[in-house]
Amino acid sequence: MLGWSLFTPVLDVVLGVAGAFFVGTLVEYWGHRLMHSKLVKGVIHENHHLLGIAQGVGPEFWVYVKGAVVFSPVGFLVSFWGGVGAVTGSLAFAFVAALSHQLSHERPSLLWWQPMPVHHIHHRYNEQTVNFGISTDLWDRVFRTYRPRPYEREQLPFVATLRTITWAMPADAQYWDDYVRETPAISAKAPELKAFRRALTARRHPDGGVKHLAAPQLAAVLAEAERLRTAPPPPVPVSIPAPPPAA
Ligand SMILES: [Zn+2]
Ligand SMILES: [Zn+2]
Repeated sequence: MLGWSLFTPVLDVVLGVAGAFFVGTLVEYWGHRLMHSKLVKGVIHENHHLLGIAQGVGPEFWVYVKGAVVFSPVGFLVSFWGGVGAVTGSLAFAFVAALSHQLSHERPSLLWWQPMPVHHIHHRYNEQTVNFGISTDLWDRVFRTYRPRPYEREQLPFVATLRTITWAMPADAQYWDDYVRETPAISAKAPELKAFRRALTARRHPDGGVKHLAAPQLAAVLAEAERLRTAPPPPVPVSIPAPPPAA
């Protein structure tokens, strides 16, 4: 640490916060891009694409905070107030990133600062090589992976609608654990997943986001998944030669 501040305390804090958002958005972009090259969390991310749901703002925030806590104290190497700014900024960014991710999946129209909610479009078209940003489309534009698609934004009351998104662990957390985190490789053909996806599709918001299942609906899905899992396999069709025409 060189001292209390490099410029003035206020300027150091502002620069620390700005630096945290700069680094945070870059990590978000490249982290996601590396997932698609299968170098980082490849299977988990593949499962995330198959299911198309996010885990709730709280759990997602916790994932990002762990990264923020490890790297942001680097700011203290510059100055004390720079460090304070970097830690504060990285915690704020962790929240913005978690919220942006959840909104992308549930209420993309609320991402008013993006002309096209880039992560929502990335999932809607199951894109593998473009639109890697979540909280911002800036780095997609810089690294030329921005692919515009038509998007019709719904006019929603921001605060009222924000209340309706999933903040804590959702009712379908069991599925999240079973399929997204722990399953080494899921197949879209698995009957349980098919039933789950059917139920999710039925819970689509008008603006294209997917809402988590409420507990009673989850119970119905589990029952349906179990029925499909234990049902006998469909009979193999046998081709019977047509009888010779009667003389
Ligand atoms: Zn992706
Ligand atoms: Zn996502």
